[in-house]
Amino acid sequence: MPISIENALREAALLLAEHQSPSPRSDALVLLCHVLDKPSSYLYTWSDKLLTDDENNAFTALLERRKLGEPVAYIIGYRDFWSLRLNVEPSTLIPRPDTERLVELALERLPSQADSVLDLGTGTGAIALAIASERKDLQVTGVDLRSEAVALAERNRVENGITNAQFMQSSWFDNVPAHRFSMIVSNPPYIDPEDPHLSQGDVRFEPKSALVADDHGLADIRQICQQSPDFLVDDGWLLIEHGYDQGEPVRAIFSAAGFVDVDTLHDYAGLDRVTLGRFAR
Ligand code: GLN
Repeated sequence: MPISIENALREAALLLAEHQSPSPRSDALVLLCHVLDKPSSYLYTWSDKLLTDDENNAFTALLERRKLGEPVAYIIGYRDFWSLRLNVEPSTLIPRPDTERLVELALERLPSQADSVLDLGTGTGAIALAIASERKDLQVTGVDLRSEAVALAERNRVENGITNAQFMQSSWFDNVPAHRFSMIVSNPPYIDPEDPHLSQGDVRFEPKSALVADDHGLADIRQICQQSPDFLVDDGWLLIEHGYDQGEPVRAIFSAAGFVDVDTLHDYAGLDRVTLGRFAR
């Protein structure tokens, strides 16, 4: 029995809800858009249209993967972030909407005469490419520990037509050439290894090296704060994403490393998410 777009979506949403998806309706929509290679507006406009057997089978196969918990972004192979479409792979974290907040805050603070930005732990290249796309006058460097991530970020750069970003392999600052950047940004691993959320939802499928840090999730943030001054211009800003309950310890780490005007700002859910500070020599 052929099934309409509308009914296929409804059935899929019910099925995914039964399998603990936190977003069954939007998962179903994104997966069917992918199968049909159409935007969601098409699915709403043509909701009575019947799926072909091939389309229905392909949709069912993707739903089976989602039922087992695999993140939608890994199933379809991309995630939209800022104004960009980014390829994602299981070797990198899936870009989150909350990280767009970090991009916004960075752009607000980048002076007009800024010439360079460094993104530490770039993953898909999300933050670096979003900043580069908005500020074509400056050079953005993104580094990642994993060479698969560096290759992916470079592919995302090319596919988004961005010419003012470059990517290289480096464990934090280890391979970063001596340079004073106008700003340093990072979404480092910050989850406590004991956090029970690590065994729930999408994070189960993401690389632990991108999620988890020692010392209650603060070890990498501390290292970045301590080393950043050597790579920042006078009055250069450092912005770091962190967990909703890490604002206070992260502000203390920034202050101890010599940063001033230290502040923590909220994500779109109103939770502490980004701490920033200016390095005054
Ligand atoms: N915000 C992500 C989460 O809580 C973690 C991202 C990170 O560790 N950098 O799922």
